Amino acid sequence: MYPGSFDPVTNGHIDVVERSLKFIDKLIISIIRHPSKKPLFTFKERFEMLTDIFSDRKNIAVEYFDGLLIDYLEKKGVYLVIRGLRAVSDFDYEFQMVLTNRKMLSTIETIFLTPREEYLYLSSSTVKEIARLRGPVEKFVPAFVADKLKEKFNEVSNY
Ligand code: ADP
Repeated sequence: MYPGSFDPVTNGHIDVVERSLKFIDKLIISIIRHPSKKPLFTFKERFEMLTDIFSDRKNIAVEYFDGLLIDYLEKKGVYLVIRGLRAVSDFDYEFQMVLTNRKMLSTIETIFLTPREEYLYLSSSTVKEIARLRGPVEKFVPAFVADKLKEKFNEVSNY
């Protein structure tokens, strides 16, 4: 399972998905429906973007969860978590998450995947900032997501 906010999905997330499928048969991309930080895109929009990108991939399922990740993993009987690891900035947070989750559910293992170099500094927040300033987001996200970002910032012109 690859959990995340995906607000919105970027080429970095997609890189992690593709890498994981080199050694697992099936991946569940699981959207945290109510992340602690208020998302730009509604849960429905984030879900729609992910399903659109992976619509032709039978080995990828897009789902969502509320509450604790460990509860959802247990409910699904999934014990392998995939996370992305970019620069050192991700490390502290991810390390805390792994150890805390393991304390609550000892059967989970987490595998960290590092994307190709050009996505190492790419985050959903950066992409949103570029879109807000009307920059070329298509360099960092699939075309469908770039369109959604443009629509979003045109809708609310005072963002
Ligand atoms: P969260 O709110 O759980 O951090 P994100 O959608 O921001 O959700 O990220 C989900 C996972 O994807 C995290 O493990 C994050 O480190 C990873 N990730 C995000 N962007 C990239 C990227 N450019 N390259 C590799 N991994 C990434």
